[in-house]
Amino acid sequence: MRVVIISDFEGISGVHTFRQVIKEFGKPFEKAKTLITEDINAAVRGLKAAGATEIGVVDGHRWGNPPNIIDEKIEAGATVLRKKRERDDFIKSCDAQVLVGFHAMAGTKDGFLSHTFSSILGLALGLKGQYIGETAWCVWKGAYTGFPTIMVTGDAAVVREAKSFFPEITGVTVKTALSRTSAECLSLKKTRRMIEDVATHALKNLSQFKVLETPEPPIETDLVFASPGFTDPVAAIPGYRRKGDRWLSYTAKNWPELDEAFSMALRLALSQLVNLQENLSGVESEQVNRYVREFVCHVWESKFPPLPKLKTHREKQVQPKQPKL
Ligand SMILES: [Zn+2]
Repeated sequence: MRVVIISDFEGISGVHTFRQVIKEFGKPFEKAKTLITEDINAAVRGLKAAGATEIGVVDGHRWGNPPNIIDEKIEAGATVLRKKRERDDFIKSCDAQVLVGFHAMAGTKDGFLSHTFSSILGLALGLKGQYIGETAWCVWKGAYTGFPTIMVTGDAAVVREAKSFFPEITGVTVKTALSRTSAECLSLKKTRRMIEDVATHALKNLSQFKVLETPEPPIETDLVFASPGFTDPVAAIPGYRRKGDRWLSYTAKNWPELDEAFSMALRLALSQLVNLQENLSGVESEQVNRYVREFVCHVWESKFPPLPKLKTHREKQVQPKQPKL
């Protein structure tokens, strides 16, 4: 039985400040790499106990660049899939997916480090008239490939969010946000035990998880950025339409087209920041690092700008599909 684990950082046990999830902060990040590795290991042990024979780990936080997991400390029986080709090949024939260390969507006030794909861009993502987060995105992406998502771990807000979209998903709450940038964590011993036990229980009951249909085409998406400055290069991509000075929309015929259009939008919007960094070339690297740290602090600590109301319309009920046995 083949299972893929997608990991993120904000919802990892023991992570309670943004300094732990950003490499540029140095020591706190280096220490937190052990925390993310151990949450993944707990899930690996649990999945193995339920019969998983192949476990692939996708280092999802900042697309694994720089790496967040200590690969050589991952439990035997699991492999961190660093190359795109390895990941694509592994995911093609998976039986289930597990999300470890996730966080709530942009704009969630009681979500620890809540954001959607990029906090620096201050991005919010709407799909068919409803804001969604990374959890729903990953669940649907897995469903499109043909497997169910059986478990999510993270703070109380992401577990609540996941269950509001997918009531059958199992959740492990490892912390509760005290504000968007601070959290009260349960003990590591307790959360790792819970992750292991819930992973075993969920995989043992795999037949009870449905492979969901992905949202019915045409798939209308809305991208709302914190600042109008990020929207210009995205508006130039064929298919994107402007709806406001920081708001763009795109309608996709199917999931792969949406995936491609969305990744391109993220890359181009982020390239605005790279331009900014290149303008700093020649400046002492210590100064650049200080600049990055200040910028990141500003992003996390500033208030998320209010989001526009998306047009909501009644969805056709999504029909669950029986899993392949
Ligand atoms: Zn994330």
